[in-house]
Amino acid sequence: MKVLLFGPNGSGKGTQGAIVKERFQIPHIETGVIFRENIAKGTELGKQAKAYIDRGELVPDSITIPMILERLKQPDCAKGWLLDGFPRNLTQAQELDKALKKEGIQLDYVIEIVLDRQTAKNRIMGRRLCVNDNNHPNNIYIEAIKPNGDRCRVCGGELKTRSDDQDEKAIDQRHNIYYDDKTGTMAAINYFKDLSKRQGGVPKIVEVNGLPGVKEVTQELLQKLGLA
Ligand code: AMP
Repeated sequence: MKVLLFGPNGSGKGTQGAIVKERFQIPHIETGVIFRENIAKGTELGKQAKAYIDRGELVPDSITIPMILERLKQPDCAKGWLLDGFPRNLTQAQELDKALKKEGIQLDYVIEIVLDRQTAKNRIMGRRLCVNDNNHPNNIYIEAIKPNGDRCRVCGGELKTRSDDQDEKAIDQRHNIYYDDKTGTMAAINYFKDLSKRQGGVPKIVEVNGLPGVKEVTQELLQKLGLA
């Protein structure tokens, strides 16, 4: 199964991606994770990428595109993959399509988690981390998981914020790229929607509403993927 996963920062894309990967038993390839691993290891690639990432800008296509196309050639990708965070602009979409066609590889699904910009931003900025347990979700803007005063709603522990969640400029910058339908991520999504129309519904486009809670989004997604 070859799957592309789209959704703005703050849409719960990471959470849903982990579930899809599990159900399809395919590697979850996240561009952002690959970059962060390279930065942590101090590789040449990491050094080149770091400044762009810190500013919330895209790492240049000349670095990103070959890195991902190379990753897709690894043996664990032979049976399929879930690509998350790539393509992120129109050029990357065109290059991916070209590379797949050249290898005779067919894309099965394009998933889009649909969420408006203001809600996505609130979700990121409202996120609070429990010092006792990372898996205690708290968000001051989401009714279902609102903290108990200034304490964790699950265990009453102290709550902290993630510094990059509070960097409004970087969040806006990432969303500017995502919601740009001329050359940004929306343009990449539309590229595959047009392709699907021209190819009689292949790849299948799966749109899910990102507004409800995690469980509801998962349910809609699995149902539309025929996995429910
Ligand atoms: P993420 O973890 O997906 O939010 O990605 C973190 C950062 O990695 C982004 O803000 C970009 O700087 C960079 N990045 C991730 N995916 C791409 C991509 N497809 N093209 C260029 N840069 C990317």
